[in-house]
Amino acid sequence: MSDAHSLEPLLQVKNLKQHFPVTAGLLRRQVGTIKAVDGVDFDLLPQENLGLVGESGCGKTTLARAILRLYQPTEGQVLFNNIDLTRLKPSALRALRPKMQMIFQDPQDSLNPRMTVGSIIAEPLDEHTVIKGKERSDRVEELLDAVGLNPRYTNRYPHEFSGGQRQRIGIARALGLNPELVICDEPIAALDVSIQAQVVNLLEDLQAKLGLTYLFISHDLGMIRHISKRVAVMYLGKIVELGPANDLYTRAQHPYTKALLSAVPLHDPVREAKRERIILSGDVPSPANPPTGCPFRTRCPVAETRCAVSMPEPKKLGPGHWVACHLVE
Ligand code: SF4
Repeated sequence: MSDAHSLEPLLQVKNLKQHFPVTAGLLRRQVGTIKAVDGVDFDLLPQENLGLVGESGCGKTTLARAILRLYQPTEGQVLFNNIDLTRLKPSALRALRPKMQMIFQDPQDSLNPRMTVGSIIAEPLDEHTVIKGKERSDRVEELLDAVGLNPRYTNRYPHEFSGGQRQRIGIARALGLNPELVICDEPIAALDVSIQAQVVNLLEDLQAKLGLTYLFISHDLGMIRHISKRVAVMYLGKIVELGPANDLYTRAQHPYTKALLSAVPLHDPVREAKRERIILSGDVPSPANPPTGCPFRTRCPVAETRCAVSMPEPKKLGPGHWVACHLVE
C-alpha cells in the first residue's frame, strides 16, 4: 500500500510479518502460530504524521515493536533511510537507535519510580553520547523546558508529578537524542480527558519545531482525525484501509473503517443527530486462529460467500487510498 513519492520515504515497511509460536507440553512442541502482524506495507515520508488505528488486540503495538526491531520480525523488510533494520547486526542497530524513539501509553509504567526526573531524561544521553557535567544538565533542563515543565524539577521523582506531567517527562526522554522517527503508542489513552488535548498539542508543536516524523497509534479515530493527515486502519494483523485523512473521513470504503467512523461524534449538530452507529458483534478474533478468507468476515455486516474463500488484495481507489475488500471495485 504505497505510492510513488517525489520525496524519499523515511520509513518503508514491506510485507512485514511478526508471528509467535504457540507451544504446548513438556517438550514445548509448537502447536500453532499467533499471526500478530501479517503482511503489513506502508511508507512514511519525512515529517509526516501517519495515524494507525484499530481496536485493542489488532496488532498495532506489535507492529510498532517489530518496526523498531524490539522483536525480530518473522518476514519482510523495514527500511529506515533505506537501511533494512531487520537484517542489521546488533552494533549497527544500536548506533541507529537514537534516531528512532517510542513514547509509551502509560507514563506510570515507563518511568522508573526510584530515579529522579533528571536521571530518567539523561539515561539515553548517558547510553548513546559522551556529554557530561554542565553540558548534560543543561541538555536535561532544555528538554524539560521544551515539554513545558519547569527546568528546576530535575531532582524530583515521578510520583511528584501528575499523569500529564509524567507523559511530558516520557516525551522529553524520547527527544533527548534528536530522533527522526517517533512512534507514539496511544500516548494519551491513560490520561484524564481534560489534559489529553494539551499533550496532543505539545506533540504537534514539537513535530513542527523539531521536524519529527510520527507514527501515531490510537484506537480513537476522532483523535487521529485531529492530528494525522494520513490514516491506516488495522484489523487482525493487516492494514485494511489506508488513505489521506480527508478521503478516509468522508469516503471510507472498508466496512471496518465505516464502523469505527460511525462511533466518532460529529461537530455539526445536524449531522450528529442523524449519525447511525454500526455496532460490530463480538471481539477481534484470536490471531492464533484467524478466519479463512477476509480477516473481518466474522464481524462484517455485508460479508458474502466469497469473503470466506479468499483474502481480498489491497486495491487502489485514488491517490494514496488503498482498500482491501472484495466489494470495493
Ligand atoms: Fe466484509 Fe467481505 Fe469486504 Fe471482508 S471482503 S470487509 S468480509 S465485504
